Amino acid sequence: MPSFSQHSFKGQKALIRVDFNVPLSDQLEITDDTRMRATLPTIQKILKDGGSVILMSHLGRPKDGPSDKYSLKHLVRHLSELLGGMPVLFAGDCIGEQAIHAANLLKPGEVLLLENLRFHKEEEKGDEAFAKKLAQLGDVYVNDAFGTAHRAHASTAVIAKFFPADKRMFGLLMESEVKSAEKVLHEARKPFVAIIGGAKVSDKILIMENLLEKATDIIVGGGMAYTFLKAQGGKIGNSLCENDRFGTALDLLAKAESKGVCIHLPADSIIADKFDADAETSASPSNQIPDGWMGLDIGPNACEQFCNVIKKSRTILWNGPMGVFEMENFRHGTKAIAMGIADATRNGAFSLVGGGDSVSAVNLFGLADKVSYVSTGGGAMLEYFEGRELPGIAAINNPS
Ligand code: AMP
Repeated sequence: MPSFSQHSFKGQKALIRVDFNVPLSDQLEITDDTRMRATLPTIQKILKDGGSVILMSHLGRPKDGPSDKYSLKHLVRHLSELLGGMPVLFAGDCIGEQAIHAANLLKPGEVLLLENLRFHKEEEKGDEAFAKKLAQLGDVYVNDAFGTAHRAHASTAVIAKFFPADKRMFGLLMESEVKSAEKVLHEARKPFVAIIGGAKVSDKILIMENLLEKATDIIVGGGMAYTFLKAQGGKIGNSLCENDRFGTALDLLAKAESKGVCIHLPADSIIADKFDADAETSASPSNQIPDGWMGLDIGPNACEQFCNVIKKSRTILWNGPMGVFEMENFRHGTKAIAMGIADATRNGAFSLVGGGDSVSAVNLFGLADKVSYVSTGGGAMLEYFEGRELPGIAAINNPS
């Protein structure tokens, strides 16, 4: 595989798979541009070499073809600003006449953004014919989308086979993501704490199993903690819960014990009488939440409990908020954990933060430069810890 830095893109059209899946407000304004900024060095290197750039990405989860809400055209103006005011061309479809025409007209030093890949269902299906059509737009394929590297989609994995070995490579972002994930996977200094939060229990329980092989401690926060607490017989009121995951949760706790890994559940929670920013709130032990109330953040004792674990750790991995941090009343736990990680990092720990929401949180609290590495990939980063090669990485290294 050629090194991106050593490749000259002069006169070449680089087709870059980026992860521009940024959060948009109801007014369709970008609320966090971390993923866009992260890929700028890759774009700039190609332009500096005298090449041109064709960017392809997905945005959100459109169900039935094109829709304004998920159009990448909403990113054009901001991308142009990030590139110092240079114009960014836009093709209203990622394949077909419009895309071919725009790509053919592209001159060295120009940037073209293609419309949302997921407006075609073939993208997520990993359809070969669709991948081939995309491949025809560029001379070189660059994968800089670590956030989707765990998906075997047309633009992230299948497309690579249509480029010779010296014309397919990782971008600078992908290279640094893999390097920092490897640092945690292969060179973790102990104690190693994995902090897992957020809502999607079913996604994260399976990945946690693999962290049992690596971590000294696993902190579980956010909505997913209540499935563990209820499985243990706790009362969680109306808190988020996946009843079909009790067996998995108990199994995980038992496995952790047999391996000597400490799983930490929040001692207390900030509870609310409704899922609302203006809800009535109170503090409660996490396993004694009254009916009609729900845990929306970790409580003050849990903050202290978790920060004590973080403080003694030399390697820290964080994915997922500790509560509904989007609402001010339920933000404190996530902020306390972020500050604890920043403190530990200042004292020499290596900290890797990943996942869209954790990244938004460290940005919100102004702590992004106080941790060792902020990853742009949540699921991809954690799946990497299963020891599996991700499809987006395998496709470049050894396409089938
Ligand atoms: P995930 O995408 O699985 O990492 O989940 C992130 C989402 O989980 C955020 O939008 C949070 O608001 C939400 N979340 C975190 N804690 C809770 C909780 N206790 N109850 C409900 N939602 C939560």
